[in-house]
Amino acid sequence: MADGVEELEAECEERLVFLRERHVRFFLRCLQVLPEGYSSLETSRLTIAFFALSGLDMLDALDMVNKADIIEWIYSLQVLPTEDNSNLNRCGFRGSSYLGMPFNPSKRPGVVHPYDSGHIAMTYTALSSLVILGDDLRRVHVDACLAGLRALQLEDGSFCAVPEGSENDMRFVYCASCICYMLNNWSGMDMKKSIDYIRRSMSYDNGLAQGAGLESHGGSTFCGIASLCLMGKLEEVFSEKELNRIRRWCIMRQQNGFHGRPNKPVDTCYSFWVGATLKLLNIFQFTDLEKNRNYIMSTQDRIVGGFAKWPDSHPDALHAYFGICGLSLMEESGVSEVHPALNVSRRTYERLQHLHHIWKAKDSKQSARAYTLLHD
Ligand SMILES: [Zn+2]
Repeated sequence: MADGVEELEAECEERLVFLRERHVRFFLRCLQVLPEGYSSLETSRLTIAFFALSGLDMLDALDMVNKADIIEWIYSLQVLPTEDNSNLNRCGFRGSSYLGMPFNPSKRPGVVHPYDSGHIAMTYTALSSLVILGDDLRRVHVDACLAGLRALQLEDGSFCAVPEGSENDMRFVYCASCICYMLNNWSGMDMKKSIDYIRRSMSYDNGLAQGAGLESHGGSTFCGIASLCLMGKLEEVFSEKELNRIRRWCIMRQQNGFHGRPNKPVDTCYSFWVGATLKLLNIFQFTDLEKNRNYIMSTQDRIVGGFAKWPDSHPDALHAYFGICGLSLMEESGVSEVHPALNVSRRTYERLQHLHHIWKAKDSKQSARAYTLLHD
């Protein structure tokens, strides 16, 4: 009898061990060959690559991938302006090579194609992945990317995903904010309109919804609050009283792990969406870390690696990544610190800051040279 109890205890203990090496192998596999279940995500392949690359970055294991090859692949997905610039409003990045466009990782003009256009989430994950891989974004056609982004913004301040028209909501406001932040250029959006959109999405129960009049949701609350943080406008937009109400809504989302809406089951990814929002609102330390960690660990796949949304379910790239980011918020050993607004490792965030510094120095050098030329 005593033996049985001890065995059970040992098994419980074992289940709480973070299997770093398994997760590294899980993400490496995601970059090579994916199970059939992923086939419908072909047009969004870049997002899967982002989960795997940022996941490896969080585990400090990026030296195990061929960075140069992946950088070339990502650049080959850039929708470049054609010779006559007639497709500027369709520029950005496509999700994969499904259209069969000629492979072109350079910044040379693009080829005319009636169905070729960028997708806002692909542009966001492409830029993010490039920064994660240590690229300096030199081959990004910044003006075209920003023109493509502006074309996606609607009158109400929200964004569509593609120029042909699609859903428009808070997810894409967040993608747009990340794109502008990474390119260090906010001319890609009418910021005032986006801020109004975020404000109007605050629901009667003080969470943020995908848009005005809709139901509060942990994912859209993250997207709204993180966007405002990237813009540097959080305290300007919401009063301290309003921020406290948002804090209350978020902190009430913890059961053992977190759920995204009242009366919904907990799900691994909300340990990041809600956890990161609480971190941005400076009250993550008041959550129950042990219960949160135990829930995330109960969804760890101990054989193939990765995390699932629920215990005893199949792991997938998204939940593997956000499970690790959720653990990072609790300073899990063997996991890098995550930047809660930009959703990359702190290390990658700092590299981006350094890049912006170099651009700024170059800009002022160039304007100084132009000034000398003009005045000599
Ligand atoms: Zn989920």
